[in-house]
Amino acid sequence: MSYRLQLQTIVSTNYLPRHFFRYTSTSSRLSFSTFCCAKLLEMEDFKFGSESSVAHPVLLHNKISAIRLAGPQKLQVIADFDATLTKFWVNGTRGQSSHGLLQQDNPEYDAKRQQLYEHYHPLEFSPTLGFEEKRKLMEEWWGKTHGLLIEGGLTYESIRQSVANANIAFREGVSELFEFLEERDIPVLIFSAGLADIIEEVLRQKLHRSFKNVKIVSNRMVFNDDGRLVSFKGKLIHSLNKNEHALDMAAPLHEQFGDIDGPTDDNASLKKRTNVLLLGDHTGDLGMSDGLNYDTRISVGFLNHNVENSLSCYREAFDVVLVNDAPMCGVIKLLSHMCSSGK
Ligand SMILES: [Mg+2]
Repeated sequence: MSYRLQLQTIVSTNYLPRHFFRYTSTSSRLSFSTFCCAKLLEMEDFKFGSESSVAHPVLLHNKISAIRLAGPQKLQVIADFDATLTKFWVNGTRGQSSHGLLQQDNPEYDAKRQQLYEHYHPLEFSPTLGFEEKRKLMEEWWGKTHGLLIEGGLTYESIRQSVANANIAFREGVSELFEFLEERDIPVLIFSAGLADIIEEVLRQKLHRSFKNVKIVSNRMVFNDDGRLVSFKGKLIHSLNKNEHALDMAAPLHEQFGDIDGPTDDNASLKKRTNVLLLGDHTGDLGMSDGLNYDTRISVGFLNHNVENSLSCYREAFDVVLVNDAPMCGVIKLLSHMCSSGK
């Protein structure tokens, strides 16, 4: 009797997720006994809070088991920043993004950047333009914006002030999430098409501490001795190349937060961490792990708006969906399953 037939004699196929057989046939880590446990396991275990939704609990259970078996030394977390680590709604209005909050203390240049936004933003979502065309336009937009920031004489002090005045807030539990991961030496890669220096300042001002395991992969600025922006370093990261070779781009950029001269993991060591917990708020964020030949990935999707229309799509795309600006406690619970040493 084949392996697959044995499974079918025990478990009703109606119960199986649609792509379960594909998963089991390609993953050597999953065992028959693991699968039986999953069937017997109380499904309540996969409710990571009242605002969570899991379409395929058996598949999720098997992924958790595979990651737990490999141990925390094989795990890394890859997270989007805006509306994933930060809240969608802040003080009753739409929270600002790391890009959108920047005021460069030069109204003329703020207005010029706004004009660029008004021109390029509709093109980014145009249904008539092809991907390559859009990609060129995004490169153009980001390039011009960065040029204006330099030309307008952006200072680090303006970033500090912009963040202090911004309507931006982390989800509840982000600090606890980073602490949980730091205690277990699990790296967190925050991947963003925004500006690394702003994200770091938001972390500094809103969390009031640094985490040695948290690294930013984003556009990074170079300031002169007077604190004035003079250039950008590394490859330009925009909204349409954000997911390409994420970990390769991380290599020269993921300097340690709060200690840029300190030791850094190289991307080879990140690539050895072949299990991933991915956090994002768009289905496109799933591409953040594309540069990694991972063994097992668990994805958590934050569905922040248009829940009724998008939930079924998100449930199919992500292993766990969290709605309504859910706090991070569900993710911490998920991680504690993944990192527990018990059976
Ligand atoms: Mg986002």
